[in-house]
Amino acid sequence: MRAVYLDNNATTRVDPAVVEAMIPLFTEHFGNASSMHSFGAAVSGTLKTARQRMQSLLGAEFDHEIVWTAGGTESDNTALLSAIETQGGRSEIVTTAVEHPAILNLCAWLEKSRGTKVHYIGVDSRGRLDIEAYRRALSPRTAIASVMWANNETGTIFPVETLADLAHEAGALFHTDAVQAVGKIPMDLKTSEIDLLSLSGHKLHAPKGIGALYVRKGVRLRPMIRGGHQERGRRAGTENAPGIVGLGMAAALAEAHLGEENTRVRALRDRLEKGLLHRIGNAFVTGDVDHRLPNTANIAFEYVEGEGILLLLNKAGIAASSGSACTSGSLEPSHVLRAMKVPYTAAHGAIRFSLSRDNTEADVDQVLEAMPPIIAQLRALSPFWAKEGGADRAFQPSYV
Ligand SMILES: *Cc1c(COP(=O)(O)O)cnc(C)c1O
Repeated sequence: MRAVYLDNNATTRVDPAVVEAMIPLFTEHFGNASSMHSFGAAVSGTLKTARQRMQSLLGAEFDHEIVWTAGGTESDNTALLSAIETQGGRSEIVTTAVEHPAILNLCAWLEKSRGTKVHYIGVDSRGRLDIEAYRRALSPRTAIASVMWANNETGTIFPVETLADLAHEAGALFHTDAVQAVGKIPMDLKTSEIDLLSLSGHKLHAPKGIGALYVRKGVRLRPMIRGGHQERGRRAGTENAPGIVGLGMAAALAEAHLGEENTRVRALRDRLEKGLLHRIGNAFVTGDVDHRLPNTANIAFEYVEGEGILLLLNKAGIAASSGSACTSGSLEPSHVLRAMKVPYTAAHGAIRFSLSRDNTEADVDQVLEAMPPIIAQLRALSPFWAKEGGADRAFQPSYV
């Protein structure tokens, strides 16, 4: 049986070209970039190239706007903690109800331990942000507004450029968790008002444990990790040179593959989605279908448990996810689908298929074949389904 990996929003396979670019940093070029000898110089040269590659992918104006970190979580934490320290008398945070736990759990901790006021802006049934509520929450007390570029569960894309303008009108900084967006959709930070942006290597075919925080020139950053003078004093600790070089290569590859992500990967995703909705009734797509990442399909199957679907999919060689990996195992449906007020009977059966450039037509075919009997088998066991009379309403339109 072929293994089909459709959980790329959880993590991606490291591209072989990324591995190849990293190997010399373990073997000949193992020096410390800060050293004055040739071993150090060999490393600092490759780090410079990596920074320029990331600058190019993001459309950043200057390469020194990139600060390397240990991943998306560290970047998110650094951005928010820095803002509430550097913004003078401003201490409030404006964010959304559908952020990743790297933002939400940090905010919960700040509320509890420091009494920080945090505004959580809601979304509508399609996952679209309530812009008016966002505008109202911004005030002269706002230190920073933080809104993800794209949601990890539904793929919904938020209008971050507009949201950054609004934050600036209120005199606040704007941060975006772009971990799911970088490498999947084009960006040009130099023409935006975004001050801070988080990204993570392992979501774009680089290794785990490396990421970056974009810090617009002129934005003050208070380091979260203090020590040596690496990263211009903004993030101490000997550089993770293999990780940085790997992420630089991944950025170059992502830039080269952006067109593919938006055509071939999107077409695969659309065929998977349409095929499933065509074959299985009482199912609908969650999220903003008009503003969505090209690789993500989140489909709610009514009257079945997501965990059951995943188990049977896994037996069929297919890896997918029920919303956020960080919350799976809990009986509550994901906080994102709850914020969207997706009915409980459907939210429990929501499955996220997330593709990448590694996927093929054969992968989609395998899912389209495996899913209908899985859903039928689980519904046959469902008391709720029995109560509904097992009436399979085919060709269910997208959830609105
Ligand atoms: C994965 C993810 C993170 C965390 O990144 P790590 O590198 O795993 O720490 C943060 N935000 C979003 C939206 C993510 O998908």
